[in-house]
Amino acid sequence: MTDSPVLALAKDLISRQSVTPEDAGCQDLMIERLKALGFEIEVMVFEDTTNFWARRGSEAPLFAFAGHTDVVPAGKLEHWDTHPFEPTIIDGYLHGRGAADMKGSLAAMVVAVERFIEENPDHKGSIGFLITSDEEGPFINGTVRVVETLMARGENIDMCIVGEPSSTEVVGDVVKNGRRGSITGDLTVKGTQGHVAYPHLANNPVHESLLAIHELATTEWDKGNDYFPPTSFQIPNVSAGTGASNVIPGEFHVQFNLRFSTELNNDAIVQRVTETLDKHELDYDLKWTFNGDPFLTDTGALLDAVVAAVADVNDTKPALLTTGGTSDGRFIARMGGQVVELGPVNATIHKVNECVKVDDLEKLTDMYENTLKHLLAK
Ligand SMILES: [Zn+2]
Repeated sequence: MTDSPVLALAKDLISRQSVTPEDAGCQDLMIERLKALGFEIEVMVFEDTTNFWARRGSEAPLFAFAGHTDVVPAGKLEHWDTHPFEPTIIDGYLHGRGAADMKGSLAAMVVAVERFIEENPDHKGSIGFLITSDEEGPFINGTVRVVETLMARGENIDMCIVGEPSSTEVVGDVVKNGRRGSITGDLTVKGTQGHVAYPHLANNPVHESLLAIHELATTEWDKGNDYFPPTSFQIPNVSAGTGASNVIPGEFHVQFNLRFSTELNNDAIVQRVTETLDKHELDYDLKWTFNGDPFLTDTGALLDAVVAAVADVNDTKPALLTTGGTSDGRFIARMGGQVVELGPVNATIHKVNECVKVDDLEKLTDMYENTLKHLLAK
């Protein structure tokens, strides 16, 4: 039996060893298929990262699929049942690095568009593809740069499906319609080093800051809202001291991270943390890393179309959730359009023996194609 179009393309992509930020020819494969459909292709190389933007049509609305060709490293080969870059089918599942995150989605997008255009060569609006090879890396030269380039010339994506593996049990049971924001603080509280036997000659920054840290860790930042859980504050790293039991440390380092809802923003968090530290009269340095703003698509034509497209296949509507880490959706949302994530079951992503149900690839292709029909068929 020959492979179906989506399975054949997924296998072809998996066999190219595109460990981040390498693309290993995956994008060429996609570009070749999209060119044949009349897409205009723009390859955008930034530093070590290859990206491309493809567009068919010049009208509004501009609908786009977004995704990444890079994968996380395979780890030790002996822990895999099959070679991670030799796509293999076992009991109805396609195994290989990237099968679920997210080469299966890329194959489904391409085949869905091929089928849609065959039936609707004069579709409404425009179809785009925003593809990067650095989503699993430091995300500096990937989607964010392509988004900047498009925004600079006023070419804003109105509606976007990101193919991240959003599902939990069966494909389409969960659509992510937003993501929390993330911000990291690196706090250094300064004291005076000294001998533990002569504390009056020293000033212990650990003691000085515990009340303030406790207040930050137990404060209610917000109550969340219909789509987001309450904002959470977590301390992943602390350090102080020389290792000797008789030395009062001179500095105390505390790193904290907040995953925050659309009820908060970076400025409000910075202000509240600073006020708390100042109230406790600490001498400190504080460095901030802004990892991403939260985004939410709670209404609109895209959400309606995706929910209907999933229900066409599964006979049941997807749950709309905003859980999980950050994704490239946060950059695309800066254009002001609607962004959702729909992709395969995420149970094996970034693990050994990553796999995706072959049947789910077919269903995902149908869901993507149905979305196009709902939005752009004449
Ligand atoms: Zn991914």
